[in-house]
Parts: sequence; structure tokens; C-alpha cells
Amino acid sequence: AGQVRDADVVVVGGGIGGLANALALTLKGLRVRVLERAHRFGEVGAGLQIAPNCTRILHRWGLLEEVTSLGVRPEAIVMRDALGGDVLTRLDLRDVERRYGFPYLVIHRSDLHGALLRACRRAGVDLVDDVTVTGYEQTGEGAAAIHAGGREAGAVVVAADGLHSVARRLLSDDEPVSSAYVAYRGAVPFAQVAHLDVQPKDVVVHVGPRCHFVQYPLRHGEMFNQVAVFESPKALAGEADWGTPDELDAAFAATGERVRAALPLMWRDRWWRMFDREPIDTWVRGRVALTGDAAHPPLQYLAQGAVMAVEDAYVLAEHVARRTSAAGVDWDAALAAYDAVRPVHCRRVQTTARAWGRLWHHDGEEREWRDAVLRGRDVYDYTYVDWLFGPTALTPEELPPMFPGYDDGPAQSHYGAPKQGF
Ligand code: FAD
Repeated sequence: AGQVRDADVVVVGGGIGGLANALALTLKGLRVRVLERAHRFGEVGAGLQIAPNCTRILHRWGLLEEVTSLGVRPEAIVMRDALGGDVLTRLDLRDVERRYGFPYLVIHRSDLHGALLRACRRAGVDLVDDVTVTGYEQTGEGAAAIHAGGREAGAVVVAADGLHSVARRLLSDDEPVSSAYVAYRGAVPFAQVAHLDVQPKDVVVHVGPRCHFVQYPLRHGEMFNQVAVFESPKALAGEADWGTPDELDAAFAATGERVRAALPLMWRDRWWRMFDREPIDTWVRGRVALTGDAAHPPLQYLAQGAVMAVEDAYVLAEHVARRTSAAGVDWDAALAAYDAVRPVHCRRVQTTARAWGRLWHHDGEEREWRDAVLRGRDVYDYTYVDWLFGPTALTPEELPPMFPGYDDGPAQSHYGAPKQGF
């Protein structure tokens, strides 16, 4: 396929996760080839929020300045009740930046993907498109990805092939889990929302019964990104044709003027049904390792899906560097170290994202209770954020408790004994 004859690492999938892994490993001196099924490397969709635990890593890779220049540093994340419209709580993102040392950014997906792609090209990653990987095999010295035109072998294959990962079948026979929720997106020129009651410098989440609505600026404020998410009655009834635009309108009919006025700007010709998967405790089989959504697809409520993929890439590359000697890389030790820490953290994110979504979507008395709790929250209390936005743990020992008083332990009980590798 590409110009590089032998690759040390073959990465399957050229989304944000695949490119992040390719870049991180190349920066450690390895030769990496990426196989992408699409005709060209790219991203569809709209905006992406990237928290300090991601921008910290982009800084290490020398990309933070470029990414910041492409995105927006919002002033706050504001949560409003979608029915009444009042503010429930907020995060002061200037204070977040001071506390964690790195900014919270919002960026167009294709801009983040583009920055990673340019960095991969500069670093010499061999990027091969139009290759669909159909299977994997362990070889004497490593592993290979199988495709219609043959096979690509390396010491390791990193599978970043997304929610419907083929590689995951090596580790689990699970299927994506439907949440019965669907997302509509729409990124429009700011001029189209200028007449509406919007907060142009903030990320605003309007939480309502079985629905929520997200708004934030993109591209220096020239664009405005909106996401409308709701539970589909047709999905709950088991109908195949679920999430259609008539359901969008019905789902938001009871929301306040702020939300309803913005809804007509959503793209109506496509929508995203929301799936995650049950967490699994190991992502490594021989010399094949899962990363990104292939390993840990979350519901998007914590905005950590792409962020976790970037963290995976950083953690794996750091362990590879620590285990590189004149004799080469001790791949088995590096993969074991990666597998000892990342599944534990990502399991927490996946399960917390589900719980966070339930909280957002409360109705009736539960909604009133939720609103009261959030209104009473100290805006500068970071109890529920520290475990996410702090430095990415490289070992189970470095994992912080999720929050004080709720310590599911870095590597205890339901994960089994701490995994070896340390
Ligand atoms: P993907 O982006 O799915 O990439 C997989 C790649 O592999 C694709 O390019 C695909 O073509 C390729 N591929 C697949 N199969 C094969 C094959 N067999 N052979 C070769 N190539 C293959 N995350 C955040 O961090 N912040 C947010 O604010 C945020 N908001 C979100 C909002 C919504 C509505 C949704 C749906 C998700 C959101 N996420 C967010 C999650 C984030 O989009 C994903 O977690 C992230 O994009 C996953 O990246 P990935 O590279 O692992 O997978």
C-alpha cells in the first residue's frame, strides 16, 4: 500500500482516535501506517467540546496553539432548565483553566481532525485510504490487519475502528446498546442566530424531560453549533424507523421559547441515534489493542468520547517510550500497562455518562429535586470534575477517586485484582 515498507504499528481507522494514536507513536520514533476505509480522511458532524484533560495532551504534542486558534475558548458552561429557562448552575471556564492549567475549548470536528491529520503528515505517518479491514491475525512477531487487498503486519495493530469495531470481536461478542435517544445537529453562521436570545460566548445546556439542547460558538464565534437530543417514542415502541423529524418537533413542544426558537435551524436531513456499549475490562488481545470508540463508546453527555481517545493515545505512547531500549520496544509490557489503567477510567466515564444523562432528562418531582440541587451547588466546587479534568493517569495508582466519598477504587473489586504490568 503506502510508501513505508515496514510499519512498526498498524492503526486501523483514521478518525480522531486513530490519528491521535498514529501521531503519539510516531512522535516516539515509531513508523506508523494508518488504514482508513473511507476514500479520504475526514470527519462528519459539527462541534466538539474538549476539556483540559485533552488540551493538556494536545499541548504536549505541540498542537494546542493551532487548535486554540481554530476553536473558541468559551467563558462558561451554563446549565438551564429547558422548560422554565432559568439558570441552574454553571462552570466558570476561566477558573477551570486556572485550576487545571489548560483551557476548555470548543472546536469544529473537522478542524480538530484536520490539525491531527496535518501533524501526522508532518511527522511522517503513512496514511492509506480506501482500505477496509475485515479481520485480524496474530503473527510470530506481532499482528496483522486483513483486508481485501492482502494484509498489513506490524509489531502491534491498534484498532480505532469506532462504535461498530470489527476488532472488538476479538475481545467481546457484545453489541452496541441503544439508548433510544437521538441527536440532531446543526452548525450555522452566527448571523442566523443573532436575532435569538443566545449566549454567544458560552456553552449552554438546556436540560428538559426526556430531551436536552446544547448551544455553543465555533470558529471564533463566526459559527454557532446546536445539538438537540431527545428520547424517541418510536424507539421505545420497537419501531425500526425511529428518530424522525416529526419526533424532534414533538419532543421539544413543551420547552421554553429560547429552545423552541432555535429548533428550526437544526439539520433535518440526517440524525444520529445514540448508542454506547457495556464497558469491558480488557482491550488487548495478543498484539491487537483497541482504542477510542472501539474500546469505550460512551453516551456523549460528559463530552469525553473523543477526549478519551486522545488520552488513550497519550497513555499508550508514554508506556511504549518507557519500555523502549536498544533491543526495541517491550510491546507486551507496554500493552499490559495501557490495559491496566485505561479500561478502569473509561468504565467510570461510560457509566457516569449514562447517569448524567438520566439526571438531565428528569421529569416531574425528580426534575424539581434536580433543579433545586443544581441551584444550590457552589459554582466553584470541582468535586465532580476533578477526576475528569485533572492530569491523565498513567498507572492505576495515579487514578484519583471519582469523588470524595465515592471511591470505587482504582483497580479493585468488580474489576478483579489489579492487572499485572507494574
Ligand atoms: P470514529 O470517529 O468512529 O472513527 C472510526 C474511523 O475508523 C472512521 O474514520 C471509520 O471510517 C474507520 N473505520 C471503521 N471501520 C473500519 C474498517 N473496518 N477498516 C478501516 N477503517 C475503518 N466527544 C468529545 O470528546 N466531546 C464532545 O463534545 C462530543 N460530542 C459528541 C456529540 C455527539 C452528538 C456524538 C454522537 C458524539 C460526541 N462525542 C464527543 C464523541 C466522539 O465523537 C467520539 O467518541 C469520537 O469521535 C470517537 O473517535 P474514534 O476515532 O474512536 O471513532
